Amino acid sequence: MTPYTLLFVAGALVIVVFGLLRSLGAYRKFRGNRIISCPENHRPAAVRVAAAKAAIQATIGTAHLQLSECSRWPGMAGCGQECLSQIQEAPKACLVSNIVSRWYEGRRCLYCHRPFGEIHWHDHPPAVVNEQGDSFEWNEIPLEHLQQTLSTHWPVCWNCHIAEAFRRRHPELVTDRPAH
Ligand SMILES: [Zn+2]
Repeated sequence: MTPYTLLFVAGALVIVVFGLLRSLGAYRKFRGNRIISCPENHRPAAVRVAAAKAAIQATIGTAHLQLSECSRWPGMAGCGQECLSQIQEAPKACLVSNIVSRWYEGRRCLYCHRPFGEIHWHDHPPAVVNEQGDSFEWNEIPLEHLQQTLSTHWPVCWNCHIAEAFRRRHPELVTDRPAH
């Protein structure tokens, strides 16, 4: 291999690696569920950006964002997707996992009063409880009801959620002992 060929191959490799890194960066930035304020009715809507498409475009230039899902579709399918400007302005702020994690920050479980600390979503994630004492995991709550849930529910830890759900389902199997 001549030095020129070597230089060419090295240059091509740098370009490819650079493109892949840009692509990966775009994918990580735009993946996930988001809540935006729909510009049409000024109410929260749950959306997803077509992150894989944005990642492919980012390898060769600028990613042009597009939605892949919206809770207002198919009724509002074909809208101008003006909400994308909110995502471009603050991609992290409207990410559902960030909104919910922020909500637990500094709070304590309604039942055991333990602080939540760092949240591990893949392992024993915290839940919420409503006024009637019914607790829910986040995957049971439609994303478009997220904001409403945050303002009407209380935080509960995983252990209390499981214990309380069992108590409600099988009251005959649970005996309360007074604390020592
Ligand atoms: Zn608890």
